Amino acid sequence: MIERALFIGPPACGKGTQAAWLSAKTGISVVSTGRMLRIEERAGTELGKLSLELSKTGTLVPDEMVIGLVESWLDTHGDQFFFDGFPRTLAQTKAFEKLLEKRGTPLQLAILFDVPDSVRLERATSRQTCRDCGKAFPPSAVGESGDCPKCGGALIRRIDDVGDVFRLRMEQYSRMTQPVVDYYRDKGILIEVDGTGNPDEVSSRFASALEHCGGI
Ligand SMILES: [Zn+2]
Repeated sequence: MIERALFIGPPACGKGTQAAWLSAKTGISVVSTGRMLRIEERAGTELGKLSLELSKTGTLVPDEMVIGLVESWLDTHGDQFFFDGFPRTLAQTKAFEKLLEKRGTPLQLAILFDVPDSVRLERATSRQTCRDCGKAFPPSAVGESGDCPKCGGALIRRIDDVGDVFRLRMEQYSRMTQPVVDYYRDKGILIEVDGTGNPDEVSSRFASALEHCGGI
């Protein structure tokens, strides 16, 4: 059974959608360090304050703080998880591995969705995000009203998904996160799924890839 996995991949590769799909199938939570940081920010903790401060200048939260956050999450929630967008750097990857070794709960899979750059750029620039619930939708998911299909809120185009900023995030990904992909490939726990087509098509390919890894 797959109970410890992480989803890595470049912006707009569809990993968030597929992580949610696997979570619904298995009942195991999707966790993102970004969301954990926002909770700290709202709670006004020391870490939250620092995180807010850093985000103003576009600086990433230091690796050791991210790892501390992950460790305390595992202490509270247990050893089943699907991480989305963590680890982001090779240093985080190695520290995470040590942490899991210490707990005796090794990572089972790292999951990557292959989508050509041109398709991802097209997805990112057409995607709209709900101002109320924060969910992002492709044009095909938005009805005639133009409101959020989930909560009815107003949809906006997220600035950071568009054009130049997308390319900047891509560049960051290649520089910092590609080594993470290579690391898990070398370890033999990386699975790569063709991420083109609609979410259902991707989920069914993903399901058969998981079958080959012992099933869910
Ligand atoms: Zn909404």
